Amino acid sequence: MFDKILQRIRQKIGAQQYVRTLHAKEEMEDDGLTIYDIEQGIMTGEVLERQKDRATSEPKYRIRGETVGGGEVEIIAKLSLTYTLKPRKCQMVCHYCRKEGVQNRRITRTYGKGEDLLVIENIPVVSCPNCGERYLTAATLHEIERIKLQRKTLAVERLVEVASFPL
Ligand SMILES: [Zn+2]
Repeated sequence: MFDKILQRIRQKIGAQQYVRTLHAKEEMEDDGLTIYDIEQGIMTGEVLERQKDRATSEPKYRIRGETVGGGEVEIIAKLSLTYTLKPRKCQMVCHYCRKEGVQNRRITRTYGKGEDLLVIENIPVVSCPNCGERYLTAATLHEIERIKLQRKTLAVERLVEVASFPL
């Protein structure tokens, strides 16, 4: 039923022309999933249902597929324009609120915890001053995964103070 839309979403994944929200990335981390699991899930999965985005009324799709390890993963995906084309102006728009004026920022994120804690600095994010949503591009997500895999050679040890709330 959703064959055509799934095909278009898969094309975008294959061409690495997608972004994901920073919030979604955090959920993904909690589940122990990598960006490869998400891509694999979309490439192997099927659309379960169409939903309506509350903010933009755009259709979005719930896809269930397989992870790299053969597990199950559910992803919410939508297709949207990245740029608005106006005379003499090509401006990137926010994928969430559709407004123009998104900015490129750099942030620091931590991954894992305890002995496995890894801090990555200067991660490029696309940030929307209108709705506050932040995105990571496909290229950035892949680079983060590469850094995590090669942390032994890429990371430098630095003494950092780590605090924790009482359990
Ligand atoms: Zn926005």
